[in-house]
Amino acid sequence: MQNRADDLPRRRRLPAVLAGLGFLAILAVALVGAAGRIRSIPPEPAVAMTQIGPVDAADPAPAPARFTSVAVRLQKNQTLNQALFSLRLAAAEVNEVVEALRGHFPFRKARPGDQLRLERTAEGDLHRFTYRQGAADEWVVERLPDGTLESAKRPVELTTEVARVAVTIESSLYESLARAEEDPGLAVLAADVLAWDVDFYQDVRSGDRMRILVEKVYADGKLLRYGEVLAAEYDGVATGRKRLFRYTDATGQTSYFDDDGVSARRGFLKSPLKYAHITSSFGRRRHPVLGYTRAHEGVDYGAPTGTPIWAVGEGAVRQAGWKGGCGKAVVLKHRNGLETIYCHLSRVAVSAGKQVSQKQIIGYVGSTGLSTGPHLHFAVKSGGRYVNPLQLKVPRDSPLPASALPDFREKTAPLRAQLAGPVALN
Ligand SMILES: [Zn+2]
Repeated sequence: MQNRADDLPRRRRLPAVLAGLGFLAILAVALVGAAGRIRSIPPEPAVAMTQIGPVDAADPAPAPARFTSVAVRLQKNQTLNQALFSLRLAAAEVNEVVEALRGHFPFRKARPGDQLRLERTAEGDLHRFTYRQGAADEWVVERLPDGTLESAKRPVELTTEVARVAVTIESSLYESLARAEEDPGLAVLAADVLAWDVDFYQDVRSGDRMRILVEKVYADGKLLRYGEVLAAEYDGVATGRKRLFRYTDATGQTSYFDDDGVSARRGFLKSPLKYAHITSSFGRRRHPVLGYTRAHEGVDYGAPTGTPIWAVGEGAVRQAGWKGGCGKAVVLKHRNGLETIYCHLSRVAVSAGKQVSQKQIIGYVGSTGLSTGPHLHFAVKSGGRYVNPLQLKVPRDSPLPASALPDFREKTAPLRAQLAGPVALN
């Protein structure tokens, strides 16, 4: 009962958010543009003098106060004190600001590029000092009426909007998203949602198309991070069309479902390798899609050392550690009677006897044992015999109950429409 009550507001909020999406997106673009201009600090001149009006327009100040503002960025190998002096603060003022920050500000985390801004009154008194790091962290030191300086971490306003990202894949998912000016981290999020249907190491072909509806979280108008993936569609030569929607049911459980309201989940994931951002000896510009080979009772996945390996299904760890020619290895026993075997790991991340959940990272690709280069040897056993992992047919977990389908259709209809994108006129 508790859960249901807690979930009511969340469920009510969703349709309202979705209804406003169309014009909200347009509005957001305008706002982001404007905010971006106001907030940006010229990168080149280290010191810029500008006259600015009252900072808080809502503040009913009786007389229009005028402040002088100076902004700098923390330079490489520069201490905070040195940066404060470059803002033309007197030694006593520097001490005052540093003392005010003490206890609030993580001095050790100061990084080159952080923005420092100083505002003085027309009389030349220190009015406000602002230290900004990244999009979401800002500390403010202000002069109180009694003359003392007070510092606080300012909460930065976060806004969330839903964006549609559509790409045609040329070489890798990463590159395609980078070309669409999205953060490649989105590839990891999307691959995670589609992990039961698409093996992003093996199934990706040039010309495949992908569409994603994803929340973007903005801090003061700048993209801070991605939120939830609300819908994802992969349409590929090797995969066919797979489309999933995020849906929270009446019991408050959130999961992904296909068009017919059938859970995205299956007993096994499509791939034993988690799609991850890999910086490797293969070079940073190219994501290594190295293919696989059918080999001695299993499949060899060529992948750089350190690529995370996840449990394809929930199960118990039967073995974790050295296993002859298999090198460092993990063997899992699953409830459906199948066993999965992962060989040549550089590192094992679980121990024998423990339970693992699906998608849990159990180790990392390496080249231990009888191996000529970094790869994962993946094998599946059924009743003690090896079976071909690529031919496993693993059913989806369960459909929504028929009684939930009207709600599912209603909630996902706007996602469906937005995922489809603008209708072509010709
Ligand atoms: Zn092998």
